[in-house]
Amino acid sequence: MNKEGNIRIAIQKSGRLSEDSIALFKECGIKLEMGKGRLKSESSNFQAEFLFLRDDDIPGYVEDGVADLGIVGENVLVESEKDVIVSKKLGFSKCRLSIAIPREDPFEGPADLDGKSIATSYPKILGQYLSENNIEAQIHEISGSVEIAPSIGLADAVCDIVSSGSTLLSNGLKEVQKIFKSEAVLIANNNLSDHKKALLDKILFRINAVQKAQDNKYILDRKS
Ligand code: ATP
Ligand code: ZN
Repeated sequence: MNKEGNIRIAIQKSGRLSEDSIALFKECGIKLEMGKGRLKSESSNFQAEFLFLRDDDIPGYVEDGVADLGIVGENVLVESEKDVIVSKKLGFSKCRLSIAIPREDPFEGPADLDGKSIATSYPKILGQYLSENNIEAQIHEISGSVEIAPSIGLADAVCDIVSSGSTLLSNGLKEVQKIFKSEAVLIANNNLSDHKKALLDKILFRINAVQKAQDNKYILDRKS
């Protein structure tokens, strides 16, 4: 457990969550500096310090209390099976996990996946989907470049993150089944002290205000 005082917030060091995570705190009036190669930074105007980590490590650090809060995609959170509180959906880094197959293969429904092998970096989310739908398929866990698996004969299908679908297309695949929707979420440790709970409440209050202002702006922009 880290000491009383600063609330510790884990955010992705560099990747698809980083920019919006940093922007969120800035919009909340919480200053944070990202020095080159620095892994930790203290805010100069709020009782907070930031840890810059790989996204996959964030749920575990928050569960253990090494960090009090974190920002991570729901896909990574659910796959991690860590026990943390989801304090707030943040509305950015939206994507989905989908099953895709070679473009020329026929597909009439999930039952067509029976007996197939599926390559993925999300074996738990995929396993859950398959068992809920009574599909018996073999899961091939690989950590990256999942979308090339069918073309090199490693698997019949893939289950991977899709946002626009262009990566699938350029690998000769088509999306046939969406299985999980994801966005960035603010997660919190289960046993925050009262002091840190109060800091979290302050942060949530500001996030809500920022989101409300953005919604209003959106409505105004559409009217004009
Ligand atoms: P790290 O090096 O930290 O492990 P990573 O390569 O695993 O990073 P990123 O590609 O940066 O992860 O993606 C981080 C998260 O952003 C994903 O887990 C997902 O929630 C979301 N995401 C992934 N791809 C997209 C996309 N194309 N559009 C929007 N959000 C996405
Ligand atoms: Zn990652």
